[in-house]
Amino acid sequence: MAYDSNNIFAKILRGEIPCKKVYEDDFALAFHDIQPQAPVHVLVIPKGPYVSLDDFSLEAQPAEIGGFFAAVGETARVLGVVEGGYRILANVGRDANQEVAHFHVHIFAGRPLGPMIKKS
Ligand code: AMP
Repeated sequence: MAYDSNNIFAKILRGEIPCKKVYEDDFALAFHDIQPQAPVHVLVIPKGPYVSLDDFSLEAQPAEIGGFFAAVGETARVLGVVEGGYRILANVGRDANQEVAHFHVHIFAGRPLGPMIKKS
């Protein structure tokens, strides 16, 4: 799938749509999810134009990949959720219900998060 630069996260990166920013560096922007599914629900997105983790892992430079995942860990530290624990999740494609076609990692925290995946 080709990257569509009109997706909502691309607009957030360009500053055309506001976000509640948590953390930003050269590689990533982290902001609160608009429909939180846990007391802490934050999205971390790379600055480059990647549709999904599949696209990112195929096309991004090693420095971008390393920088991005370092930013995910730093975002969790900024949020203060390391001691209590947290979960990261990335939906890729149809069966995972990926809604926004700009690669993003969800960070969930703030309560016991239950089973890793729905059973059916
Ligand atoms: P996914 O299903 O993994 O693609 O998740 C997309 C996430 O983006 C959902 O949790 C939405 O609530 C969230 N979302 C959509 N639009 C916005 C927005 N403008 N600001 C913050 N989060 C958003």
